[in-house]
Amino acid sequence: MRLSLSSLSVSSPIKTLTLTMPLTRVSTRFRSSVTEASKSHLNSTTEHKEENQRRKRTRESTKIKEISNGVKSNQKIYKPTASLQFGTLPDIEDFIYVKKSSSSQEQSTSIQLGKAIAATTVSEVKVKPPENWEKLLEGIKKMRCSGEAPVDTKGCEKAGSLLPPKERRFAILISSMLSSQTKDEVTHGAVERLSNNGLLDPEAIVKTDEATIRDLIRPVGFYPKKASFIKMAAQTCLEKYGGDIPSSLPDLLSLKGVGPKMAHLVMGIAWNDIQGICVDTHVHRISNRLGWVFKRGTKQKTSSPEETRVALEAWLPKDEWSPINPLLVGFGQTVCTARFPKCGICGINNICPSSFKESSSPRRKPMKRNSIENID
Ligand code: SF4
Repeated sequence: MRLSLSSLSVSSPIKTLTLTMPLTRVSTRFRSSVTEASKSHLNSTTEHKEENQRRKRTRESTKIKEISNGVKSNQKIYKPTASLQFGTLPDIEDFIYVKKSSSSQEQSTSIQLGKAIAATTVSEVKVKPPENWEKLLEGIKKMRCSGEAPVDTKGCEKAGSLLPPKERRFAILISSMLSSQTKDEVTHGAVERLSNNGLLDPEAIVKTDEATIRDLIRPVGFYPKKASFIKMAAQTCLEKYGGDIPSSLPDLLSLKGVGPKMAHLVMGIAWNDIQGICVDTHVHRISNRLGWVFKRGTKQKTSSPEETRVALEAWLPKDEWSPINPLLVGFGQTVCTARFPKCGICGINNICPSSFKESSSPRRKPMKRNSIENID
C-alpha cells in the first residue's frame, strides 16, 4: 500500500484504488513543516559540502608543502638519484620506495622505473654512447682495411672451415679452448696438428690418451690443463649432445675450461647466434683506451673483460657486437698493442683519449702471470 499527502492508493493484484482526501489545516501545516525541514536540510547539506571542500583544500595545501620540502611524516618520498639519469645504470636501491600512487606524477615515475627494472633484468639497460665513438670505430675500420692481422687468417673462426657443419662446430670449440692466453699463430698450429692426427673429432679424442693430446697442442698456454679440459669436453659432447657441441650459452659455460669470452665466440661462429660481445684481452684493453667503458657509476677503467662486456653491451648497437671482436683484435695485434701502442701511426690519434699516454714508456713492468682459473 502506498500513501501520499493528497491521496490514498490501495494496490491489489487486480487493480489500484485511489482515494482522494481533501487538504486539511493539519496536512497544510505538515506540508509547510516539511518545506521548512527541507530548507533547513538543504542549508545544512550546503554547509557540510563547503566544510568538506575547505578541509580538502587544507589537506592538499599541506601535502604540497610536504612534497616541496621533501619530507613526509610516516613515509619516505621517492627522489630520483643521479644514478638514474640518462647515461648511467640504475641502482637497485633506487627502486625500494616506489609505490603505486593515485597521483599522476607518481604514477608516471612508477611506470618509468618499472621499465628500468625490466630492462635491468634482461641486461638491456641502454646508456648514452661515448663521445666520438662512431668516428673512432670508422677510423679503426679504415686502418684494418689497409693491412692484415693474424686474426684474419688464423683466428678461431677459421678452424675446420672445410669440414661439414657438425665437425666444424667441434673444431671451433677446440680452437677456442686452445686460444686463451695464446697467440693466434700458436693456436692455429696446434689445431692443425690435431687435425692432421684425426683428432678434431670427439670420439677420437676420447680414445686418445691425454699425454698424446698434450704433446700435440704444446706450446699453447697452459697446455697440460687444456689437454685435460679438451678430453672432458669431448666426453660431454659424446654423452650429452650426440657428438655435437652444446647449442646454448649456459651449456657451453658448463664445460670445464670454457669461459664467457669463448662461449660468446662459439655461439656466434658455430651457431650464428649472437648473444653477447666476445671480449678478449684486446677488446678489453682497447675499449678502455678509447674511453668506451667505465666501471659502473665511475670514470675508472673496467677491471675485467666481463665487466667490459657488460659496459659495452649497454650502448654499442647490436649489429656491431659480432664484428667488434675481430676488428679490435686485429687492431690490437698490429697498432694498439698491449705494450707501446703505435700512436704515431694510428689514424685516430687526434681523437683518442689515450693517444701517446702509453706509447713511450721505457720502463718494463713485471708480467703478472695468470692462473689457469682466470684464462679465457
Ligand atoms: S692513439 Fe694510441 S692508444 Fe689510441 S687507439 Fe691509437 S694506438 Fe691506441
